[in-house]
Amino acid sequence: MKAYHSNNPKTKNYKTAIISLAVCGVLVAVSVALALGLSLRQKDVPVEPVVNNPITYTMPIAGAEAGQEFSVDKLVYNKTLNQWRTHNGVDFACNKGAEVLAIYDGTVTKVEVTTLEGTVVEIDHGEGLVATYKGLENVTLNKGDKVTSGQKIGEIGTMMTESLEGYHLHLEMTLNGKFVNPMDYLPSSQEK
Ligand SMILES: [Zn+2]
Repeated sequence: MKAYHSNNPKTKNYKTAIISLAVCGVLVAVSVALALGLSLRQKDVPVEPVVNNPITYTMPIAGAEAGQEFSVDKLVYNKTLNQWRTHNGVDFACNKGAEVLAIYDGTVTKVEVTTLEGTVVEIDHGEGLVATYKGLENVTLNKGDKVTSGQKIGEIGTMMTESLEGYHLHLEMTLNGKFVNPMDYLPSSQEK
């Protein structure tokens, strides 16, 4: 006796449909597994580091020696004022009259002759970065002037509030209004 179902065309179609469905199901499962495997593997691939700071800054004084370090969280002793206070910038020891250079392209936003800090030049270097150069003299720039990286902006004079440290540039930098350590931006002093 022949098997009833194998001869029944309806059943045959039914069987074919089931097999097709099964094959489709397997194919879908394999595709999903492959896709998952691929995406998982992609996650394991190390992401290429993004070079997000290709800017090269110029040292504000060629060959200067690092003086008082940046310290906004800890008080440091200021021998000139005989006071413990924060030091919102870095000092670059140099000779009187040493040329002070713009660390990057920018626009002069302030030139102020002060009694305590010499001539103070503020330059907006873009991207939220503003640098303030203190202890200068012979500044010929004016507010609104454009400067390029490495351009002379003045010479070293006396900064009364730090005069016992000898002649030096006091450089402050803010990023979006918050003090940052200029040494995080400038080439290391070894590279001069
Ligand atoms: Zn200083």
